[in-house]
This record gives sequence, structure tokens and C-alpha cells, in this order.
Amino acid sequence: MPYDFDLVVIGAGSGGVRASRVAASLGARVAVVEAARPGGTCVNMGCIPKKLFSHAARFGLGLEEAPGFGWSLEPAGFDWPTLIAGKNREIQRLNGIYEQLLAQAGVQLIAGRARITGPHSVAVGETTLSARHILVATGGQPQMPAVQGLQWAISSDQAFDLPALPRRVVVVGGGYIAMEFASIFNGLGARTTLVHRSAQLLRHFDDELGQALAARMQDSGVHMQLGREIRAIARQADGTLHLQLDDDQTLHTDCLLFATGRTPNTQGLGLQEVGVELDGSGAIVVDQGFTTRIPSIHAVGDVVGRMALTPVALAEATALAHQLFGAGDKTAPDYALVPTAVFSHPNVATVGLSEAQARAHHEQVQVFKSSFRPLTNRLAEKAQPVFLKLVVGGPEQRVLGVHMVGDEAGELIQGFAVALQCRATKAQFDATLGIHPSVAEEFVTMRTPVG
Ligand code: FAD
Ligand code: NDP
Repeated sequence: MPYDFDLVVIGAGSGGVRASRVAASLGARVAVVEAARPGGTCVNMGCIPKKLFSHAARFGLGLEEAPGFGWSLEPAGFDWPTLIAGKNREIQRLNGIYEQLLAQAGVQLIAGRARITGPHSVAVGETTLSARHILVATGGQPQMPAVQGLQWAISSDQAFDLPALPRRVVVVGGGYIAMEFASIFNGLGARTTLVHRSAQLLRHFDDELGQALAARMQDSGVHMQLGREIRAIARQADGTLHLQLDDDQTLHTDCLLFATGRTPNTQGLGLQEVGVELDGSGAIVVDQGFTTRIPSIHAVGDVVGRMALTPVALAEATALAHQLFGAGDKTAPDYALVPTAVFSHPNVATVGLSEAQARAHHEQVQVFKSSFRPLTNRLAEKAQPVFLKLVVGGPEQRVLGVHMVGDEAGELIQGFAVALQCRATKAQFDATLGIHPSVAEEFVTMRTPVG
């Protein structure tokens, strides 16, 4: 039976757009259905607006460092509407680029909410599209805890469009989004408190990174309430929120942001009705080749819940498109070597294994660490140290993990990710000359293992 399309993609986010374009370039007839704006989470409510906000906050923190270098500053002012307008302009520009890229690739963009009605059929409103293959790339959404008064709290989705910068903000969570937004609000001048249920921030990273970040964020003015949970939220007549903590403290704030994880967008898609399996967290279960239990239905990106990062969604989508319509020679990404950064202030960035993971899986593990005040902020009143860590192991003494807490760590670790992809050894790091004076040179000059 002829199908309307070779591939119908649900969701024009990072994964969906990439799969559509690559499939079309390989000769497939492709349609992509999008319920909101092209670009998905990353462009509209994630990486891009977050990085713009983060940059704005870095200026705020830089104002505090500047006097030590001779600058005298008038009382500085910050205008939230200017930031929001700039952010919206950039997002609109990117939405247009995404539409253009799809059109140029010959992909049909269909506006609407899609629902799978059979192994080869997708309904969008009154229309039914038939497809040889269906790709679910519907991403995820914020997961909010069940707390009394939750209606007064926001998620990161709303944080991008607040009508004004709140005077006081409480951010809940200890992961990527909590660290980034606590740093953003603090850098922009809001009195910021971080509430996290345990003492360990960034639990999925090397333990020392979360510890180092907590100390530096506290030093920058973020109030830490670690090992605490919010029991109830009450809104007062003047709009102030009273947050009751589990230790009977009450915090007063103007804005409460829950950054407590994300959940895959699998509801209302008709997945289980057609026999697609979901795991306990609601993520779509796929095999190595991103195919579900139904051979014609595939899934990539946040909705499969492997690693919720844009480059991972892109790599999975590229691999799938080649597998379906190309020579099938592209494989899934190596999840063990995905570099990642938390764009907090300071940044946390990492590639490879944590010390604990290395010790669990390798012999002869050696750890090299360094913490020092870099020249870039040495003259500032509050000069924060950077923290660097190398994890080395195995008979060849390969570098298994590179970790950093410090300004621009996201930029710096990208290059080391190439080295780890090339299976670099500690001896090769030692043979590499440094760039002086830089923070990065320390990664090739650390000689004495610790512990
Ligand atoms: P998405 O980009 O979420 O796209 C899914 C699309 O599907 C959406 O456009 C949605 O509207 C659409 N959709 C859903 N259901 C339907 C339906 N039934 N019919 C039609 N369309 C539908 N990652 C990084 O690598 N770096 C970062 O700095 C970073 N920062 C982030 C900051 C925040 C605040 C958040 C929330 C995420 C961030 N991420 C970051 C994660 C990144 O945004 C995601 O991993 C990435 O967007 C996942 O892409 P995706 O294609 O799986 O889904
Ligand atoms: P994370 O999984 O990173 O962190 C969630 C945090 O919320 C954890 O600290 C967790 O605590 C805590 N938490 C979970 N449930 C509860 C609860 N019921 N009550 C209190 N605390 C709770 O999720 P995020 O929401 O921060 O981000 C989602 C994903 O998006 C990230 O994992 C990442 O993949 C992606 N992302 C990437 C970014 C980047 O690349 N820079 C930026 C932003 C998001 P505990 O640690 O104790 O489990």
C-alpha cells in the first residue's frame, strides 16, 4: 500500500527537525507535525533563552569583580524587559530559521497536535496521515512534586516570561536547571535561595563538583537550604509566598521555581493503544536502533529518556535517519563520552567517568586535582578558585574523566572531549604543552596524584 509519507515525525524539536532533514536529504518524503513552535524545548524554553539569561547574569557578577581591576562603576541598573525583548527577538529569529531549514530540505511542516492511530497512521485534527515509518520526538516537560499550594509555583517554562524580575526567588532542586536558574536570578540581583532535598548537588556528576559549586554559589550570595523540602505553599494577600519547610522554618519569597526534573511527553499520543511499551518513568522503550516494539514506530531524544541533552537528541536522530533511509552505517552516540556543562556561575563541565565510576570499573585509578584562583579574577574582592580534576586508570593509564568548576568550563571541556574520544593517555596529556597563562594549561601540568 502506498503511504502519504515515508516518515512522519511528531515534534519539531532538536531530534525531530534533525531526523526530518537528514531523512529528506536521503530521499525520503517527510512530514513533521508540531503542536507549538519549531525548535522545541532547546530553542523556545531551554538551552538558548537559558544561555542568554545566564550571560546577562554573568555581567551582573562581573560588576562585582571589576572594581578590583580599577573600574569604578556608577550604581548599575538592570532592565528585565530589555532582556526579555532581546530573548524573544532571538527566539523568533531561530523559529524562522528552523522553518526555513525544513522548507529547504523539502520537509512538510504541519501545525497541530499529533496522535498515533495505528502502526502506520497519525491523526492531526481531522486529517490522517499514513506513513511507512513514524518517529516520536515529543521531548519532555517539567515534573512538579505534589506539594500543597503548588499552583503558586512556576517551572522553568514560566521563568522565561516573568513579567518582572522578582525581588526574592526560591529555587527548588539540585540538578541542571536549579543550578542554572539560581545562578541567573542571583546574578541579576534577586535575593536567591536554593532549597534541595539532600546535601549533594548535581548528584549524577563527580561528587566533588557539586560540593565545589555549592561553596562558590554560596560565596556569590545564593542562600543554601540543603537537606530540606518544602511541605506547603501559602499565598498572602500582597502576593508574597510563605513556604513551610520540613524543619518548620518559613521562607518568604516573591517567586518559587521548582526545577525537580522532567518527564517524557508520552501522554495522549496513543502509544500504548498501538502497543508501544513505556517504562516506569513514562519513557518510550526502544532498542539499540531507536525502534519500539512496533517495527514502524521509532523514538529519539528526551522522550526515550537516555540523556536529555540536545546534542544527544541530534546524534540519535541522525543515526536513526541513516538507519532507515541510508546505508545504515551511522551508529548511536557513545553515551559514556557525552560532554556536558551546567551553565551555572561558575560553570560545571565534565566528560567521561567520575572518580567513583572509574574506581568501580577500572584498576589502577589515579586522581589529579587542582584548585587555584585564576588571574582573570585574582584582583577581585571575592576571587573564586577554579576546581580541576582528572581521573586516570587502567593498564594504559588512559584519561577516563575530565572535570571542572570554573568560568567558561563549558567551552574548555569541549576540547578535552575530543582527547577522550581519541582515548588519550595521561602520558599524552603530560606531553602536551600548555597555553600560558590560562586555566586550561593546568590540565596538562598536573603531575602528582592525590589519594
Ligand atoms: P524537544 O526539543 O522538547 O521537542 C519536542 C517537540 O515536540 C516540542 O516542540 C513539542 O511542542 C512537540 N510535541 C510534543 N507533543 C506533540 C504532539 N503530540 N504533537 C505535535 N508536537 C508535539 N540541553 C543541552 O544540551 N544544553 C543546554 O544548555 C540545555 N539547557 C536546557 C535548559 C532548560 C531550561 C531545559 C528545559 C532543557 C535544556 N536542555 C539543554 C535539554 C534540551 O532542551 C533537550 O534535551 C532537547 O530539547 C530535547 O530535544 P527533543 O527533540 O527530544 O525534544
Ligand atoms: P535533573 O534531573 O538534573 O535534576 C532534578 C533535581 O530535582 C535533582 O536534584 C533531584 O534531586 C530533584 N528532585 C527530583 N524530584 C524531587 C522532588 N519530588 N522533590 C524535591 N526535589 C526533587 O533535572 P532538571 O529538571 O534540572 O533538568 C532536566 C534535564 O534537562 C537534565 O537532566 C538535563 O538532561 C537537561 N538539561 C540540561 C542542561 C544543560 O545541558 N546545561 C540545562 C538544563 C536541563 P536528587 O538529586 O536528590 O534526585
